[in-house]
Amino acid sequence: MKVIGHFINGREVASNSQRTTNIFNPATGEVQNKVALGLASELDDAVEKARKAQVEWAATNPQRRARVIIKFIDLLHRDMDELARVLSSEHGKTLPDAKGDIIRGLEVAEFCIGAPHLLKGEFTDSAGPGIDMYSMRQPLGVVAGITPFNFPAMIPMWKFCPAIVAGNAFILKPSERDPSVPMMLANLMLEAGLPEGILQVVNGDKEVVDAILVNPDISAIGFVGSTPIAEYIYSKGCANGKRVQCFGGAKNHMIVMPDADLDQAADALVGAGYGAAGERCMAISVALPVGKETGDKLVEKLIPKIESLKIGPYTSDHEVDFGPVVTKEAQQRIFALVDSGVKDGAKLVVDGRDFRMQGYEEGFFVGACLFDNVKTDMEIYKQEIFGPVLSTVRTDSYEEALSIAINNEYGNGTAIFTRDGDTARDFANRINIGMVGINVPIPVPLAYHTFGGWKKSAFGDLNQHGPDAFRFYTRTKTITSRWPTGIKEGAKFSIPTME
Ligand code: NAD
Repeated sequence: MKVIGHFINGREVASNSQRTTNIFNPATGEVQNKVALGLASELDDAVEKARKAQVEWAATNPQRRARVIIKFIDLLHRDMDELARVLSSEHGKTLPDAKGDIIRGLEVAEFCIGAPHLLKGEFTDSAGPGIDMYSMRQPLGVVAGITPFNFPAMIPMWKFCPAIVAGNAFILKPSERDPSVPMMLANLMLEAGLPEGILQVVNGDKEVVDAILVNPDISAIGFVGSTPIAEYIYSKGCANGKRVQCFGGAKNHMIVMPDADLDQAADALVGAGYGAAGERCMAISVALPVGKETGDKLVEKLIPKIESLKIGPYTSDHEVDFGPVVTKEAQQRIFALVDSGVKDGAKLVVDGRDFRMQGYEEGFFVGACLFDNVKTDMEIYKQEIFGPVLSTVRTDSYEEALSIAINNEYGNGTAIFTRDGDTARDFANRINIGMVGINVPIPVPLAYHTFGGWKKSAFGDLNQHGPDAFRFYTRTKTITSRWPTGIKEGAKFSIPTME
């Protein structure tokens, strides 16, 4: 059985660590590979090599750096099928969804081709007598990304493409659940012409993460994962003087107004709630129908749609809506939460707990579940379930639905379904959530906008991808210069002003 090591200076290398963890095929429950849980000293070694390589890379002109990304995009297209196959085999998501995972990363790579433009500074001619003022964006040096299991292609690319094209070297610590695609991406970047040492992949768990947090040569950390770990990395990274942005968990609400097209709303809820088995930070997990009639009709429409969802392995010959969840622990945790919802008195109108996949009895499958009459003090409401479980919280008015979403501790994504422009506009203005959909259930911004939540879904003040990524991975230097030098004004002791 293969033990995946690290990717250092352009080569896959074995780890010296004695610790490994299993990589499962979630559809079969079988262990297919192992990954090393690297040592702090291996992280430090990777950083030292990256630090040396970065100097020349930063001096390479931005157009040449962008050409590496152009070639990388070609290679992603060339290897798309194989990348998707490997991704699905470790994550469990369907092949079309795995391709979506890769393409969403590729779209950010496409945005990064504009680096020469995005990195341009500003210039003021004759800001004073003989004085010009200009600013430039310079790379930070060595930066790191720590990424989650649920988008093993997209999120690493969201991090390393802008960081690298901006002239940094990048240390990637992928999720230990599905590290193969990140390793493949590093190989493709090398094939695309990236110099050795500029993209290092160090596999591992808390030991490597803690080493990233204290390594003095790492200037910035981008993290995506659950909220408790996001808070930990944010506070410790900031305390160590690093620039840190951490994106955490979510509980995304969708308000369904009485005037909404309920068929459209039900379809949207099913896709957004159960796609990727609910393992998306932008999954809708709470429906907030307004009024009894809206709620009754919506649940009535949802039940048959949810009961007929097709679940299966990514290798299935038939069309599959979603696959297994990532691990046995995730599966058991979801079952326990569903049990708690029943115990707390929510109405389980679609019960997926007994779902068995014929021929895949050991796979980590969870059947789709729908709860009605969920209350906001129940665990199934309060926790991010991260599984194929949708909850309906009944509300009497738009104001009540809005206040539930506003008062939730998470603020990643949200949506409203309505035909009324006034309500939609009011919602967009008043909601305290980072990404808002109007008749769009998963409002993931495109690569040239930025992605980020509010409240406990994000820590730090810049978003992912779009122009913010270039701000995060560079720092601004502003130069004031005076030519010719012959002007003599004598010494001045007060602060210069434009008076
Ligand atoms: P996770 O927090 O368990 O792991 C994320 C990363 O942190 C991994 O690389 C992991 O190795 C590392 N890690 C885990 N425990 C650690 C510890 N104790 N100390 C240091 N490092 C540790 O998250 P996950 O289960 O891989 O991913 C799912 C979570 O990610 C969900 O909460 C989901 O909402 C969130 N997510 C958020 C976004 C977003 O943009 N807000 C996007 C995708 C996923």
